[in-house]
Amino acid sequence: MIACLDRFVTDTDSRRPHDGSSLCKALELQLQGGITTDSRDIGLAGKDFGGLHSITPLALVKPTGADDVAKVVKSAVQSSNLTVAARGNGHSINGQAMADRGLVVDMTAMENHFHVVLNNGLSYVDVSGGAIWEDVLKRCVSDYGLAPRSWTDYLSLTVGGTLSNAGVSGQAFRYGPQISNVAELEVVTGTGDTLICSEMENSELFFSVLGGLGQFGIITKARVLLQPAPDMVRWIRLVYAEFESFTRDAESLVRRPEGDSFDYVEGFVFSNNDDPLTGRSTVPLDSDAAFDKAHLPETAGSVLYCLEVAVHYRNNDQGAIVDTEVHRLLTGLGYIKPLRFQVDVSYIQFLSRVKRAEEEAIANGVWDTPHPWLNLFVSKSDISDFDRVVFKSLLQNGVGGPMLVYPLLRSRWDSRMSVVLPEGEIFYLVALLRFTPPNPKPTMVDKLVEQNREIIRRCKENDIDFKLYLPHYHSRDEWKLHFGNQWSRFVERKALFDPMAILAPGQKIFTRIQ
Ligand code: FAD
Repeated sequence: MIACLDRFVTDTDSRRPHDGSSLCKALELQLQGGITTDSRDIGLAGKDFGGLHSITPLALVKPTGADDVAKVVKSAVQSSNLTVAARGNGHSINGQAMADRGLVVDMTAMENHFHVVLNNGLSYVDVSGGAIWEDVLKRCVSDYGLAPRSWTDYLSLTVGGTLSNAGVSGQAFRYGPQISNVAELEVVTGTGDTLICSEMENSELFFSVLGGLGQFGIITKARVLLQPAPDMVRWIRLVYAEFESFTRDAESLVRRPEGDSFDYVEGFVFSNNDDPLTGRSTVPLDSDAAFDKAHLPETAGSVLYCLEVAVHYRNNDQGAIVDTEVHRLLTGLGYIKPLRFQVDVSYIQFLSRVKRAEEEAIANGVWDTPHPWLNLFVSKSDISDFDRVVFKSLLQNGVGGPMLVYPLLRSRWDSRMSVVLPEGEIFYLVALLRFTPPNPKPTMVDKLVEQNREIIRRCKENDIDFKLYLPHYHSRDEWKLHFGNQWSRFVERKALFDPMAILAPGQKIFTRIQ
């Protein structure tokens, strides 16, 4: 049987089975869910949000639960060269959730698991690995008045997808990334074993999988820590002309103890011009407010900075109390006072803010175009150099979309997890979220990819301490450099949990053992 399957794998174009059931037979798979080789499904599984790469998998599996996932992995192990990629919502940039001539597992097909549990006075929700964060939020808030503590800016991502990376947003300075906010996982390893793991049980697997780029197991369930959800959020933007005062304030806010700081701290760079996508008009939060450039000092350069903060409150909190609290938290900050913008929105509206941007981008035809994004973690010690070398020089006209920059605290991350960070307690997330016009010329996209490479080159030339977030490399040597002194641990974990290198081949870290 397996020999017959290998025929499909080695020469997929001419011999791909016409339907999922013959492939299932060849794989000796008896799935609760399904397996399809339909060209539309295969086409979807071979693409991602980045739009830079496309490949053809052998088949798309739609599992109903961990049992199906385990069967798929076991049959891949028994074949001579099949690989398996869990696909969350396919929001990777560089083909990380793809499997060239392998099996792609659509994690969103899994049965919806949702169960709130109380343990030692803390509330958690058990959700399936393919659950979409937006759905988790809505259900937790509407049914229980609770919510996860740590988020991503955009919520149409799966639980397993973000936990395989880190999951960061403006709450991470306080609670750590999403990977610091899970208590337990159910994981199917690269040998097809289904294990429960936590800090106390199968802990090596638990920490390997968190931020593990899908290399050690497929997350089929996660237990996520909850807190009481606020009703409302005051969302505020503060403009700075100088990078030094922007970073001084941002760092002071993330260092302050809980109660003396905002509930959310982020920041972004924008162009000091009238560009509707990257310029001053992108800053006001309310269509009635305008950015009056007359308030900018004469020293303002070609790029400006915006600190974005938020305070949670309850419906029955008096407006005056919220005003007083916000005033207290803003006291001493060095932003340009008339260039402060704010709105009050519901907690769900606040967390869904990128969905509105998505709807606009879909309407403008730029959601499905290529997105050559670059995400980095940059050490605080070198962030001024990064500003000088990248924001003020290479990117002074922006990237056609948001350029995020905000500080995070290393002490909120557990070094046993697989993610690697730059040195020092404070480091910055830098996200260059490029958008391209509808039907861009391939040369345009190539130029943007090349500009990303140039940014990395300049960082290296200037000895900037950085790590790629959502990393993407072409060679084993580059991965080795990325992991640095964590490389041998990463390799040992791979040997332990996925010795045949079946899982997440799209990350291009290991080659399937034949
Ligand atoms: P996929 O792209 O489908 O998969 C990513 C990787 O994880 C692949 O290697 C895949 O094989 C593996 N994987 C997927 N599911 C599982 C599973 N259940 N078990 C094991 N491995 C699995 N990130 C942030 O941290 N903060 C943000 O604010 C943020 N905003 C974003 C906004 C947009 C519009 C986009 C497109 C991305 C954003 N991201 C952000 C990045 C995002 O977290 C990652 O791209 C993430 O991987 C996407 O999740 P996904 O479910 O689409 O995963």
